[in-house]
Amino acid sequence: MSPSIVKEVKTTCPYCGVGCGVIAQVDELNQVSIKGDPSHPANLGRLCSKGAALGETVSPEGRQLYPEVRGEQCSWEQALAEVAGGFQKAIQKHGPGAVAFYVSGQLLTEDYYVANKLMKGFIGSANIDTNSRLCMSSAVAGYKRAFGSDSVPCSYEDLERAKLIVLVGSNTAWCHPVLFQRIRQAKKANPDLQIIVVDPRRTPTTDIADRHLALRPGTDALLFNGLLNYLDAQDERNPLFTEQHTEGLEAALATARDSAADIPSVADRCALHEEEVSEFYRLFARTERVVTVYSQGINQSSSDSDKNNAIINCHLFTGRIGRPGMGPFSFTGQPNAMGGREVGGLANQLAAHMEIDNPRHRDCVQRFWNAPGIADKEGLKAVDLFEAIDEGRIKAVWIMATNPVVSLPEAERVKSALKRCELVVVSDCMAETDTMALAHIKLPAMTWGERAGTVTNSERRISRQRAFLGAPGIARPDWWIITEVARRMGFAEAFAYTQPAEIFREHAALSGFENGGSRDFDIGVLADIDDLQYDALEPIQWPVNEAARTGTPRLFGDGRFFTATGKARFIAVTPRAPASTTSSDYPFVLNTGRVRDHWHTMTRTGKSPRLASHRIESYVELHPGDAVARDISDGSLVTVSSPLGQVIVRARLSDDQQPGSLFVPMHWNDQFAHHGRIGCLIPANTDPLSGQPESKHAAANVSLYTPAWHGFMFSRRHLTPDEASYWARSRGRGLWRYELAGEQQPQDWAQAARALLCSEAADVGWMEYYDRSARRYRAARFVNDVLESCIFIGPDIHLPPRDWLEKLFNQDRPSDADRSHLLTGEAPSGSADIGRTLCACNGVGEQAILEAIAQQGLDTVEAISEFTRAGTTCGSCLPEIRALLEKK
Ligand code: SF4
Repeated sequence: MSPSIVKEVKTTCPYCGVGCGVIAQVDELNQVSIKGDPSHPANLGRLCSKGAALGETVSPEGRQLYPEVRGEQCSWEQALAEVAGGFQKAIQKHGPGAVAFYVSGQLLTEDYYVANKLMKGFIGSANIDTNSRLCMSSAVAGYKRAFGSDSVPCSYEDLERAKLIVLVGSNTAWCHPVLFQRIRQAKKANPDLQIIVVDPRRTPTTDIADRHLALRPGTDALLFNGLLNYLDAQDERNPLFTEQHTEGLEAALATARDSAADIPSVADRCALHEEEVSEFYRLFARTERVVTVYSQGINQSSSDSDKNNAIINCHLFTGRIGRPGMGPFSFTGQPNAMGGREVGGLANQLAAHMEIDNPRHRDCVQRFWNAPGIADKEGLKAVDLFEAIDEGRIKAVWIMATNPVVSLPEAERVKSALKRCELVVVSDCMAETDTMALAHIKLPAMTWGERAGTVTNSERRISRQRAFLGAPGIARPDWWIITEVARRMGFAEAFAYTQPAEIFREHAALSGFENGGSRDFDIGVLADIDDLQYDALEPIQWPVNEAARTGTPRLFGDGRFFTATGKARFIAVTPRAPASTTSSDYPFVLNTGRVRDHWHTMTRTGKSPRLASHRIESYVELHPGDAVARDISDGSLVTVSSPLGQVIVRARLSDDQQPGSLFVPMHWNDQFAHHGRIGCLIPANTDPLSGQPESKHAAANVSLYTPAWHGFMFSRRHLTPDEASYWARSRGRGLWRYELAGEQQPQDWAQAARALLCSEAADVGWMEYYDRSARRYRAARFVNDVLESCIFIGPDIHLPPRDWLEKLFNQDRPSDADRSHLLTGEAPSGSADIGRTLCACNGVGEQAILEAIAQQGLDTVEAISEFTRAGTTCGSCLPEIRALLEKK
């Protein structure tokens, strides 16, 4: 009988900007299970593999449980006094510009609000920036230039109402999987819906595309300038809209004409066929309901603001905005990037979408907060902020819920900057992160499931996150930690909050304060909700004001914008090449991004065996032609290098990748791999307006890494096998997996294996096999007849499959048959190897799918799904199943 459910709470997934509603159920054994919330408008019950596996990530394992000051565990009282005193000292000595907060799109809006209020209103500096700078500050810049406000005009339902969806620089299938499911479903319901993917890579998203424009990296602005020019030439202008509601058209058209004169030249420079370009342009021109979705492929560029505006220009020109099924739609990366924008989490914004360089806005916020003074100029944006730390201009920094030593470009410089900084405070839920390792003061923060507040998703929908678990140790919510520090800095009156509802009401009140329709962000009517109404708050899209008490699905339907003239602005865009250029030493373009089943620096998803099984180590994807020329085979270890450093990763050969291009995931870090932080290779080239770094275009090289031995080991223990020159760690069910390689062939493998496995128990319970001439070593260790660890070493990458061995760790005691086969690495007959996990939801492996295809003669994705159950839950693996089928 399954344990009974003792608690059921509606909350929101903490991963991507889709902002899916989930129902968390806690049973009597305190086990958490998750299902999609059918009543949440973002997902209507759907989930992706990450959301579905949330229950596997809530254990207290690895959590920071207590405050620590310089390595010593201490009370909250001591830690808070140290933080407040350290910041006060730096401010007294060097001024408010010498301190900084680096915050995160993982924070809840209430946390963000108080952090911003403390820094901008009470410390008097705008040196607060967020990791959302790395994913969507260009979308902010693009919208603000065009609309006079940071307003996403669309709703998710526009995806279902569109006739054409253009996905630009967006691997929606992996990065916003539930929206991909919605688009897939829309296409199924309406086969006439056309989908165009614009992306240098073929990704799982192209699985549903009618056309894939695999353009040359960095040429998106050119393609959209060409579209604007084409629309003009074809007389596709919406004259009423452009005349009454826009300005700056002629200048934008002039630069479009100059830069993208005709289709042949656009096609040539974008490395596309003329027919592809003209077909895309024709389709866009003749389809009224067009949604153009864009994401990091557009945003992470040194000319990202212009790319955003090149897209928006085409929508303004045709008047395709503010009506159902159309609009330029930025998908945000993080769960609360939008909430951060609302409260002014970026260094160049004030709270409630007000402007830091607008004296009227500054006065408004200062009076509302009753603040002693307010920052009067913009602060340091993320990359500049860490440069200032490196140069000693910032003396004290407080990093909240983010891991910049992994995620920022020039990550090694970020690390050395923090090592030099006089005071580094880090609040995080996890004890061991690459950034936490450099903290003088560590503050244990609550995390998803424990804390309460609100988040805003990509369609401006504010949803509640609700608590359903107690916090481990003495972890506290971020808003409480910030508030307590503020009080100790002398600002008790302004930070007298006792619960997040009070902060939310103040945030809502500020949005409506002296607004009168002059600012887009207005949730003023929510300022009056009581605690019960806050608890019960249903998902709602802002603005929520007297004119729209039930929220606003889409903006600008009335043609009124938030510029001084009330008109939307065309921006003249002159396409620019990426900042980093290839050379004979670094002939490849390196692109970075997400994988399907991991999130950011893996602090949460790395805990889930289901999720970790999809990609057990970092990799570089490269074209087979490039690989052959470098003697690289699929599965080889390779070195990827740039002028800034190198990583060692596994090679995956795929013609999804253009010749001359490399793709490496952004997630791996020192907690999961030796030499895996790809941020170390990315130069900090930023867009001059948005400050967003160009994480998708770095000059790089790739070469074969030839260690003396390769291997893998499984252990029930969390190890750090630094004796190996290469290691990557991942979570399995009941074990940790380690992929290994070493440059020195040990004299004595028995001794070396014990060192790698950190095993002191020299000869107790070991089974070993060593073929010196073949340089193969295998061993397993049993403790009380339970398999505790095993290790397989060989001269090359041809090692036994992992799946059967891994399953032995789920058994109390392996059978005699399994035990006798263990060191062969091959299952006794009758035990099947499922291969690497493809479907994380249902645990279906690649091998199982290949066998189903071969033995059952299955020839459609649907038939494979039905037979194996792969892809029947969230569907995120369907593109990979199709790719396998096509290879057969
Ligand atoms: Fe979470 Fe997946 Fe929904 Fe994103 S798409 S919010 S990761 S369930």
